[in-house]
Amino acid sequence: MEQTFIMIKPDGVQRGLVGEIISRFEKKGFSLKALKFVNVDRPFAEKHYADLSAKPFFNGLVEYIVSGPVVAMVWEGKGVVATGRKLIGATNPLASEPGTIRGDFAIDIGRNVIHGSDAVDSATKEIALWFPEGVVHWQSSLHSWIYE
Ligand code: UDP
Ligand code: MG
Repeated sequence: MEQTFIMIKPDGVQRGLVGEIISRFEKKGFSLKALKFVNVDRPFAEKHYADLSAKPFFNGLVEYIVSGPVVAMVWEGKGVVATGRKLIGATNPLASEPGTIRGDFAIDIGRNVIHGSDAVDSATKEIALWFPEGVVHWQSSLHSWIYE
């Protein structure tokens, strides 16, 4: 089944949104496969955002990600990459729909609370970077109440 990498950024942690965000993914029916609460260093943040290294906001983005602890997670489910991005909302929170995480809880693009992989192949790369030890193998007992 498809997996995605989700990270609650330092502002989401500081603002007490960890439980709310996890709850939204749980209530949708997605399944938690890995979770850790960590501080990342600059080289690691630069690797995570390597595709954006030429962007003018890259340095500020890396500073933001290393500014405090983050919650790194792997979520699994049918269509979880694209639907996870829908739960998260548009990159610029002022353009994110109400009902999305960024639409409900953020204002500035550089303080947009959460990261989610943008495609299945980037999810695979990000999961390997953040969880080289692998994820937890289990199946929820609710599986047959969520999938037909
Ligand atoms: N970002 C920023 N300024 C911009 C565009 C992006 O600070 O003009 C930050 C923002 O935190 C965003 C992250 O860089 O979440 C990664 O950008 P991307 O385009 O991949 O957006 P995302 O996939 O997070 O929606
Ligand atoms: Mg992105």
